[in-house]
Amino acid sequence: MLITLKQAATKIQAANKILLTAHIIPDGDAVGSTLAMLQILRSIGKSAQIFIDDTVRENLHALPHFDEIRRPVKGETFDADLLLILDTSPDRIGNVRNLTDAPILNVDHHVTNSGEGYELYVEPDAAATCEIVYKLARELGAEISLDAAKCIYAGMATDTGFFQYSNTGADTLRIASELVTCGVRPNEIAEQMERKSVAEVRDMTKALQSARIFLGGKVAGIFLTRADSTEGFIDLIRVIDGVDVAFMINDKAENFCRVSMRSKGTDVATIANSLGGGGHIRAAGCTLKTSLDEATKILVAAIGKALHVDNLSDAGTPLSEID
Ligand code: 5GP
Ligand code: MN
Repeated sequence: MLITLKQAATKIQAANKILLTAHIIPDGDAVGSTLAMLQILRSIGKSAQIFIDDTVRENLHALPHFDEIRRPVKGETFDADLLLILDTSPDRIGNVRNLTDAPILNVDHHVTNSGEGYELYVEPDAAATCEIVYKLARELGAEISLDAAKCIYAGMATDTGFFQYSNTGADTLRIASELVTCGVRPNEIAEQMERKSVAEVRDMTKALQSARIFLGGKVAGIFLTRADSTEGFIDLIRVIDGVDVAFMINDKAENFCRVSMRSKGTDVATIANSLGGGGHIRAAGCTLKTSLDEATKILVAAIGKALHVDNLSDAGTPLSEID
């Protein structure tokens, strides 16, 4: 059921012990929004704890209060009177779902989140869930500390590609400006978020070498096997002239391919949704439980259908073979 920001704030006010969570394969917005919310809730006298059922990419460990995030252990329960789910629908929170029977309050910015069966405040035009967390803090009359501001800024920066993507709106820049006024240093957050290990850069060069162009140059793909972290890799091919849809397939385990898509115009949320995933119009993803080759065929066919292209069985051309 869809609710308003005011109703979401009222639900929070009525609760005392709040379990906070976000999606598995957590990104800057998932971690930033839960960490900021933790601090905001405590500042208005609530007890709060974050659980995320996954490992978190190294760059995000420097965010304030990161060490307080817990991963549920098998059979564990947690005493809460509200389960506040940020940046995803309740189906992508892993075992956190089994920690409590408390009622769900869901706050999200994914257009593919339906709100069926739980209370949802969704703002598909918000660049990041962190942007909504900022508005919620204002609605709750809570102060935003410098530490909370850093977390909100980090989530907004990562979900907008540092204020470059089409989701960057006037509200995004106004809120970012207010966070900078609070004392956030954009260069410090950017350095933390962009840092990569040698292994990641090595994987990035492999990713570029694997690049192939499909469907008459409108689609580009990169292919990875068992890569741990692929943050930003898809941007390497998103920029290619004439490419509308960029995709990345990471063969994470046997018959388990993680797919990311980015677009300059095409609605990739609908494509991801048709393959069991979701996301935003210009950034979406899904998991295909099959081999890398089969996943590529399925994905190129689905993208081709959305682009109304005939050659749906295109095997792609490596960059080196293109003039
Ligand atoms: P990314 O490519 O960065 O992993 O994801 C892009 C966007 O799509 C993010 O907002 C992410 O939450 C969403 N997304 C990625 N994979 C999935 C998925 O399997 N299911 C759903 N519902 N959303 C996804
Ligand atoms: Mn997000």
